[in-house]
Amino acid sequence: MKTDIKSLSIEELKTEIEKLGEKPFRAKQLYEWMHGKLARNYDEMTNIPKSLKEKLAEHCDYTSLKEITVQTSKIDGTKKYLFELSDGNLVESVWMKYHHGNSVCISSQVGCRMGCRFCASTLDGLERSLTPSEMLDQIYAIARSTGERVSNVVVMGTGEPLDNYDNLLKFIQLITDENGLHISQRNITVSTCGIVENMKRLADEKLQITLALSLHGSTQEKRQELMPIAGKYHISEVIDACRYYFEQTGRRITFEYSLVGGVNDTNEDAENLCRLVGGLNCHINLIPVNPIKERDYIESERRDILNFQNKLEKRHINVTIRREMGRDIDGACGQLRRRHEAAV
Ligand code: SAH
Repeated sequence: MKTDIKSLSIEELKTEIEKLGEKPFRAKQLYEWMHGKLARNYDEMTNIPKSLKEKLAEHCDYTSLKEITVQTSKIDGTKKYLFELSDGNLVESVWMKYHHGNSVCISSQVGCRMGCRFCASTLDGLERSLTPSEMLDQIYAIARSTGERVSNVVVMGTGEPLDNYDNLLKFIQLITDENGLHISQRNITVSTCGIVENMKRLADEKLQITLALSLHGSTQEKRQELMPIAGKYHISEVIDACRYYFEQTGRRITFEYSLVGGVNDTNEDAENLCRLVGGLNCHINLIPVNPIKERDYIESERRDILNFQNKLEKRHINVTIRREMGRDIDGACGQLRRRHEAAV
């Protein structure tokens, strides 16, 4: 099997280059081309000799995602990209402009095996996990296409990042590297449905990234209705793992709570939620559910959303309603890829 050259750290790249009988300084040059200048292929690397390029082409795979479509929201400028991987699989990524900087939301897997009831990404199960270079290149391709600096990364697209733990960590190492895009750990958010042992492992890495936990229900029963994974990890274990993450890293936890009309948006739900997260240093992000055609879940009424927020605020819990960006361009995770696959 060929080496996935864009997934290598600078040290690993040095070893690889030496194996090919080349001088170590070539590793530095290559790294700079891949992760600094965001080269699309070996041909763009003007100071690399032809002989080395040929050797590399023979021994290494160079991940470079192909842009299939890009849709731009007329409302807020959000862009949704559909990329093709070298094996023909498709992934989607999103570019969002905020006043504090530009954010890219990436996918971590092709499909997903977590089965959340309201999510389009999981409808056909998991195809495969993404390599570190495939996660990176979603960001590189978008940075090239927009010509703008990416300051924030959220791993909140298709897939469960903690179901692809080693590749996720490698990706974080590369995207934060000072010789690459050098994105600050504090500007990276990883969202999980709550794989408890890997949340604890991540806590022990003592990184400064933000952990977002998809909660969506405030009791074990309610959560399990929406998220099959809750059958494996009890809500109390998940909250304990969040507390542990905060203790180890000092980073405030984000809870994502998608409001589904008539399912998890009542006063009682809000009260249970206050009790559940009370005493934890956290922030709650309320997301009006984005209905998918395969399920009959509906968005909560605006009045109920505001009431829910109000209830939490009264208990002094940090809460925001997620700004709905790019609603006009296949909002919910996994919808764009599905639509494309259905069309071809
Ligand atoms: N697997 C990870 C990350 C991907 S999903 C996780 O579960 O966190 C990113 C977030 O979007 C999660 O909170 C997920 O539950 C939520 N989500 C997925 N589909 C949605 C939909 N149709 N409407 C609202 N939120 C959705």
